[in-house]
Amino acid sequence: MAGGSDKIDYVFKVVLIGDSAVGKSQILARFARNEFSLDSKATIGVEFQTRTLVIQHKSVKAQIWDTAGQERYRAVTSAYYRGAVGALMVYDITRRQSFDHISRWLEELRSHADRNIVIMLVGNKTDLEDQRAVTTEDAREFAQKENLFFLETSALEATNVENAFQMVLTEIFNIVN
Ligand code: GDP
Ligand code: MG
Repeated sequence: MAGGSDKIDYVFKVVLIGDSAVGKSQILARFARNEFSLDSKATIGVEFQTRTLVIQHKSVKAQIWDTAGQERYRAVTSAYYRGAVGALMVYDITRRQSFDHISRWLEELRSHADRNIVIMLVGNKTDLEDQRAVTTEDAREFAQKENLFFLETSALEATNVENAFQMVLTEIFNIVN
């Protein structure tokens, strides 16, 4: 950008957690590159992707970490959570078990991450409404009880993915400012 400044005011680390195949990697692909793939490979190796956005005239680099296919209980290492100021905790609205496991993920998050971490519960795959196995009401109730933000998304249709990250990053921004 000619004459422009590429100064970064903040870097916020945000982690994606949740069972395997709920769509974490595709949510990240949608947010970071506006891409989606129906035959995404299970993630190999810890990775993060970044996207820089502007929040209240400041440039914020979001560094979004994706699990390395370590979604088994307790397999995600504490290094993954270290320094994270936000988390998207993802389940698949068509797979009840992935929602039932959310309480474990929350427990894990709360034992490893910073006390002030901003957490959003994300119910993904709303494009598969006819296969829904978790009601919006059940998830909203859980989120309220646990004091979490909550949104339903579709990485495939690009529904609410931007909103989910925006809400988390804006909340983090407001906490540090
Ligand atoms: P991860 O293991 O949580 O990272 O899940 P992936 O991102 O690899 O996605 C697992 C499978 O679900 C892949 O076949 C994706 O294409 C598919 N998937 C991810 N998000 C969506 C979505 O919003 N809608 C639908 N229909 N499929 C999705
Ligand atoms: Mg993945």
